[in-house]
Amino acid sequence: MNGDYIETGKIVKVAGPLVIASGLTKSKMFDVVRVSDLKLIGEIIELRGDTASIQVYEETQGLGPGEAVYCTGKPLSVELGPGLIESIYDGIQRPLDLIREKTGNYITRGLNVPGLSREKTWNFIPTLQKNEEVHGGDFIGYVQETAVVKHNIMIPPNLSGIIIDILPEGSYKIDEQIALLKTANGEERPLYMMHTWPVRIGRPFSKKLPPNQPMATGQRIIDMLFPLAKGGTACVPGPFGSGKTVVQHQLAKWANASIIVYIGCGERGNEMTDVLLEFPELEDPQTGHPLMKRTVLVANTSNMPVAAREASIYTGITIAEYFRDMGFDVALMADSTSRWAEAMREISGRLEEMPGEEGYPAYLATKIASFYERAGKVITASRKERIGSVSAIGAVSPPGGDFSDPVVQSTLKVVKVFWGLDSKLAYRRHFPAINWLSSYSLYLESLSDFMNKDIDKNWMPNRYRAMEILQHEAELEEIVRLVGKDSLSPKDQLVLETAKSIREDFLHQIAFDPSDTYSSLHKQFLILDTILFIHDVSMDLIKEEIPLGKIIALKVKEHVAKAKYVDEKELDKIKELKVEVEKEAKELLQNLKTED
Ligand code: ADP
Repeated sequence: MNGDYIETGKIVKVAGPLVIASGLTKSKMFDVVRVSDLKLIGEIIELRGDTASIQVYEETQGLGPGEAVYCTGKPLSVELGPGLIESIYDGIQRPLDLIREKTGNYITRGLNVPGLSREKTWNFIPTLQKNEEVHGGDFIGYVQETAVVKHNIMIPPNLSGIIIDILPEGSYKIDEQIALLKTANGEERPLYMMHTWPVRIGRPFSKKLPPNQPMATGQRIIDMLFPLAKGGTACVPGPFGSGKTVVQHQLAKWANASIIVYIGCGERGNEMTDVLLEFPELEDPQTGHPLMKRTVLVANTSNMPVAAREASIYTGITIAEYFRDMGFDVALMADSTSRWAEAMREISGRLEEMPGEEGYPAYLATKIASFYERAGKVITASRKERIGSVSAIGAVSPPGGDFSDPVVQSTLKVVKVFWGLDSKLAYRRHFPAINWLSSYSLYLESLSDFMNKDIDKNWMPNRYRAMEILQHEAELEEIVRLVGKDSLSPKDQLVLETAKSIREDFLHQIAFDPSDTYSSLHKQFLILDTILFIHDVSMDLIKEEIPLGKIIALKVKEHVAKAKYVDEKELDKIKELKVEVEKEAKELLQNLKTED
C-alpha cells in the first residue's frame, strides 16, 4: 500500500481510538487512512470541511498533534478468495497466526499483512472456455479449498463481458492473473482467484426470497418450538453460565449450513482465547473432519482497541455474503453484539454526539438493523440461477441479564427468532436453558408448508399443541403453589404430567451425550408425537374413569423417556411405542371391566 496515498493531513487531536485530522480535502467518508508514521489503520467516520474524525483500529497511545495522516482514498475492504476457510482473522482481516509469527503475542502496530496468502498456490480448475460471456457472480472455475469446501471462483460483482483468455488447470497463486475479460466498452480487465469488496456495502444479489426452509439444528427445542429459517435472523441473549457457548457450538456443529462464519467480540481477552482454542478442536460430525475445514473465524483479541469490533462485524458479514454468492447456506454467528454496541457508544461519546438511551448513540437501532438486514436467502446475481443464504445469529449479553437493555430491545425489533436463555433453568440443570415461555420464532408460518409436507402433516399442529400444554402448565403451577396439586382435576393433573414429559423427555437435551446431542427432524417429530399420543389416550382413559395413578404409571412411559437415545437408524423403535400405548390402555380398560 506504500506510496498509494491520495493526500496527507495532520493530526489535530487524539482521544483514545478517535483521531481528528485536518487538511483532508479529497477524502471521503469511510476511506481508510494510515495514521502517523506508524501507519496505524483507521477509517474516516465523520467529515466536516477538511476535518475528519478517524476511528483507529489500533492502539493510539503516544500519537500527538502534528503527526501525518495518509489517506488511501479506498474504503475498508476484505480480500475474498481461496484461503478464507480455516483462517482466523482479526477485525480487519489480518491472519492472527501470521501476525503472531511476525511479532509474537503482542501485535506490533501498523502491521500490514494481507488477508489471503500470496505465497500459497491453489489448483485452479477452469470451467469456462474462451469467448464465453460472463456476468458478476458467474463461476469461471474452482479450487478444492479444503476436503469439504469447493471454492468456486466468481466474476467480481458488477463486472461483465467476454472471457478472452483463461488459463488451463494448474497451480497458481492468488494474485496471478488467471483470465482476461473484455467489457462491453472494450476495456480489458485481468481476473484473479481473489477480489476485494468494501465491507460496509452489502454484496449485490438479484432477488431476496422468503426464508421458507428450516435451518435444522438437531436441537429439539429450537427446531420444534422456535425454528430458524435458512436466511433468517436470531438472537440469543446469554447471561453468564446459561449455556450460550454450548448453544453456539451446537449450532456450529449441527446446523445444516455448509459454511460457518464466527465473529467473536469478546470483552476480556480470555473469552476470545476460549473460542480460539476450542473451535479448532471441534470435530465436524457431518464429515468427520475438523469443523475448521468449513469455518472462518474473526476474532477481536484483547490487545486490539474496542473500535475494531465494529470492523469485525462488517468483515464477517461480507465474508458470509461471499460464500452465499457461491450458492452456499452460510451460518454467521456474532458473539456478542453487545460488545459491538459498547464500542459504538464509546466512539459516539468521543464524537460528542447527542446520547440516546443509556448513552448509546441514537443510531444504535439503525446500525443493528442494517447488520441483520444483510442476512437473507437470495437468488444470486449470477446469470445461471443459484440460491444461497446467510443466516445471522447474534448473541447478546445484557448487563445483569436485563432484557430491557437497549441492545436487546433494538435487536428484538429486527430479528425474527428469540432464544431466551434463562439462568434459572441452567441452575436447575435443564439444558438447553432456552425458556419456552419467553422465546419465540416468527418463521412458524413460513416453515409450516415445508415441515408439514417434508416431515409430517402433523408437525405444526403438534408444535402448537405442545406449546399450549406448556403454557397451561405455567398457569396451573400458579394454582398448585396456592392450593396444592390435589385440588386440580384429573385432567389438569394429566396436563402437568404431559408437560413434564415434554420438558424432560423432549426439550431437555444433553450436548455431550453422543446419542442425544443431535436429533433429526424425523426423530424429533416421532418423540413429540408419541408424547402427545399418550396424552390423548390418557385423556380417554380419564373419561372412562380409570384412576389417574394407573394412567401415570403406564410402563410405556419409561420407553418414551429413553426415545431420545434411540439411534437415528432405528427410528422404527419409536414408532412402535404407539402400539405399546394402545396395548396397555386396552389392558387397563379390560381390568376395569373385570373389576366391575
Ligand atoms: P455461558 O457461555 O453462557 O457462560 P456455557 O455455554 O459455558 O455458558 O455453559 C455452562 C455450562 O452449562 C457448561 O459447561 C455445561 O456444563 C452446561 N451446559 C450448557 N448447555 C448444555 C447442554 N446443552 N447440555 C449439557 N450441558 C450444558
